Amino acid sequence: MNAGRVGVLGAGTMGRGIAQLAALGGYETVLYDVAPALAEGGAEALRAALDKGAARGRWSVDEAKAAAARVETATELSQLSGCGLIVEAAPEKLELKREIFTALAAAVGPEPVFASNTSSLRVTAIADGAPDPERLVGMHFFNPPALMRLVEVVAAERSSAAALAATTEVAERMGRTPIRAKDSPGFVANRLARPFSLESLRMLGDGVADAAAIDRVVRLGGGFRMGPFELLDLIGLDVNLEIARSFFAQGGEPERWRPSPIQEKLVAAGRFGRKSGHGYYEYGEGHEREPDPDLGVAAPTLDPEQLAKIDPAAEEILTRLFAQIANEAAFAREEEIASGEDMETAMKLGFNWPRGPLAITELIGPARAVETLDRLRAEHGEAYAAAPRLRAEAEAA
Ligand code: NAD
Repeated sequence: MNAGRVGVLGAGTMGRGIAQLAALGGYETVLYDVAPALAEGGAEALRAALDKGAARGRWSVDEAKAAAARVETATELSQLSGCGLIVEAAPEKLELKREIFTALAAAVGPEPVFASNTSSLRVTAIADGAPDPERLVGMHFFNPPALMRLVEVVAAERSSAAALAATTEVAERMGRTPIRAKDSPGFVANRLARPFSLESLRMLGDGVADAAAIDRVVRLGGGFRMGPFELLDLIGLDVNLEIARSFFAQGGEPERWRPSPIQEKLVAAGRFGRKSGHGYYEYGEGHEREPDPDLGVAAPTLDPEQLAKIDPAAEEILTRLFAQIANEAAFAREEEIASGEDMETAMKLGFNWPRGPLAITELIGPARAVETLDRLRAEHGEAYAAAPRLRAEAEAA
C-alpha cells in the first residue's frame, strides 16, 4: 500500500482527531466531508488542537507546523485517490456506511485499504454491502483519539490479512497501541466494561449502597479513577443507555446485558448527567466532590479489614463488581474476541482501569467469583448466570 498518504472521511469529532494523528504520524492527510465548510471546520479545529498540543509541550511548534502542512481538505471522493488507507468516521448508520464504501471503491480504485471507525455496527455487515469486502476492516478509535492510545483493529469475516496488517501499521505510526479484535458486539473494551455500569446499577437497585457510596468504594478500594455513577454522568445517561440497548439487542438479549430500569427512568425524566445539570448527582455551583482521603488502602483489594475502613458495604460492592467483571471476561474468552493480553491492554488504555479483567479475575479467584454469582442468581436470576469457562476454572482450582 502507499505508505505515505491517509484519508479520513467525515471531519466531525472523531474524524478530525484521527486526521490529526495521521498528520502527526507523518502521513499526507486528506480530510473529507460532504461540504467545504464541514471539511474546513474540521481542519481548522485540527490545526487549533495541534497548536494547543505544542503550547502544552506535547510536541514542538515545528512538529505542529509540519503536521498542519500535511493536511488537505476534500469534498470529492476522487481526491482520496493515492491513499494507502482511508478511515471512515461518518455517522453511525449502516446504510450510509455501505453507500460510502461503495462510492469510495468506484472513486479511488482497488488499491486503498478501507477502515470503518464504527463503534457498534458489525464490520462484516458494512463490508457485505461493499464491492470488495476483503479490503475492509474495523479501526475503532476512542474519544478523544488524540488522547486515547487504544485502537481496536477489527477483523470482519472476510478482511484480508494484508488489510489488517496495513491498518495495524498505520495505527502504530499514529502513536497508538493497536489490539486485534473479533467482529463481535461492541468489540473488546466497550464490551468488557459492561459490568462496570450494569452491576453498579443493579447494586443501586438492590439497595446495597447509594451511588456516592458505590463510587467511593470503587475508587478507594477498587483503584478506579472514577466511580461508575460519576462516569455515567460524564458520558451522558442517554448515550450510555443507547449503548446498553445496542449490546442487549446484538447479544440476543442476555439478562446480564439488560439495560437498567433505573437508568431508563432517569433518561425518561430528562436526567442526562452533567450536560443536563442532573444525573446521579446534581451539578450546580460548587458541585465538585471533595478529594478522597488517604485511608492507606492498597487498591484494588478484597481484604475485608482494609475495605471496612472505606464503607461497611465495601466488601460486598467490590465482590459483586469483580465477580461480574470476571464473568464477562470469561464469556469473552470463550468467544475468543481477543487475546488475553489484548483484553488487559484494552481496559487499561481504553478505560484507564487499574488492572485488566484477567488480573481482576485472578484477584477475586474463579471459585469466589462463581460462588458470588450463584448466590446472586438464586436471589436475582439469570443476570448472574456464570460463564461455563469460569465455572470450569473454579472447579479446577
Ligand atoms: P460526528 O457527527 O461528530 O461526525 C460525523 C461527520 O461525518 C460529520 O462531520 C458529517 O458531516 C460527516 N458526514 C456525514 N455524511 C457523510 C458522508 N456521506 N461522507 C463523509 N462524511 C459524512 O460523529 P463522530 O462522533 O465523529 O462519529 C463518527 C463515527 O465514529 C461513528 O461511526 C461513531 O460511532 C464512531 N465513534 C464515535 C465515538 C465518539 O465518542 N464520538 C467514539 C468511537 C467511535
